[in-house]
Amino acid sequence: MFSIDYARILDEKDNLAKYKDEFYLLENIIYMDGNSLGLLSKRAERTLHNLLDSWKTLGIDGWTEGDNPWFYLSESVGEKMAPLVGGTKSEVIATGSTTTNLHQLAATFYKPSGTKTKVLADELNFPSDIYALKSQLALKGFNPDEHLVQVKSRDGRFLNEDDIIEAMTEDIALIVLPAVLYRSGQILDMEKLSKAANEKSIPIGFDLCHSIGAIEHALHDWGADFAFWCTYKHLNGGPGSVAGLFVHDKHFGTTPGLAGWFGSKKESQFDMDHTMDPALDVAAYQIGTPHVLSLAPVIGALELFEEVGIKKVREKSLQLTDYMLALIQQELSDHDFTIGNPVDESRGGHILLEHVEAARICKALKEDGVIPDFRAPNGVRLAPVALYNSFEDVWHTVQKLKRIMDEKRYEKFENKRGVVA
Ligand SMILES: *Cc1c(COP(=O)(O)O)cnc(C)c1O
Repeated sequence: MFSIDYARILDEKDNLAKYKDEFYLLENIIYMDGNSLGLLSKRAERTLHNLLDSWKTLGIDGWTEGDNPWFYLSESVGEKMAPLVGGTKSEVIATGSTTTNLHQLAATFYKPSGTKTKVLADELNFPSDIYALKSQLALKGFNPDEHLVQVKSRDGRFLNEDDIIEAMTEDIALIVLPAVLYRSGQILDMEKLSKAANEKSIPIGFDLCHSIGAIEHALHDWGADFAFWCTYKHLNGGPGSVAGLFVHDKHFGTTPGLAGWFGSKKESQFDMDHTMDPALDVAAYQIGTPHVLSLAPVIGALELFEEVGIKKVREKSLQLTDYMLALIQQELSDHDFTIGNPVDESRGGHILLEHVEAARICKALKEDGVIPDFRAPNGVRLAPVALYNSFEDVWHTVQKLKRIMDEKRYEKFENKRGVVA
């Protein structure tokens, strides 16, 4: 099990192995950073060129003509993302960025009244989400230090769903939580949390940045009120690609907190009336003109998920991380690493290794042809991606890490992160 031959046998048995050829892999590099920026696929490149061509050859008529008319693109890409989040076609739209979508959803669903004024989040979420929530509180005239409640982690790595449910008190007006924690990779039980929030009639939403394209979701059936995510991590949509949002159909008709003309019904958008006639579905929560060229690669990137199905992607992802964990336990046991992710199936698509020398271990890995992801203060994130990483990639990654540790090769680097880490 610990030999390279065994890794090769696993690759031979892998039905998804052929999808590696769909991607532009970096030359002589093992890419373990697909949870920060997924790689370019040939299909994403094709759809990007296709939309560039529609501009070149159609000019303004590209809005309604060509293979992918721009006017309907946010809706059609939303429909393609719907199976990945477990929403119906009318509940998902491609629009904005993660953070702007959170602003839109908080502006829509945070309706403080009387003593029900607080927002519930957690202390481990990605900073941008917290900044956005604090500014939404401030916009409504509340002091964020008093009105943002951040559920504590018991161990600095994981959140306990019961602690979160206990914090769903009478004064909470909105709940926003990550689906998969960006550092530890823990998957929160979104069904349990949604049910608890629904019972107390508190709107609850999830940030799917680290879960979409990595795990299955059933947002509609779970009763989540809203969700938002980026498309450049596990979905491989490209740097700054257009994000997505979900609004449960029980809320259709709720006035968008941040209004703009692209939230109008398509038929009346160009009536140019000063009274908005919002779309009757999730499309209402768009604001302005879609970023067509940043949406273009997402079309092709999603074809791969449509073809393979998220269930199979998740199966292989679990096998890859299982294998990586076994190798880490075997090969790195002398080196003071702590496994910072859940080792059971409540882990998402990446592994977190904690080590005091993490920043420079990451630099040594990079020098040796493995791209990891450093997360301050002490995390080495490794994401073997089902669509383009092999079991052999995992084997080499752990072997290289072992050599770096055995020979203390990291010592020649400074233990400091880069600007983008
Ligand atoms: C990646 C990520 C973001 C990034 O937000 P952008 O608006 O795309 O810059 C936000 N939240 C979480 C949890 C993330 O993982």
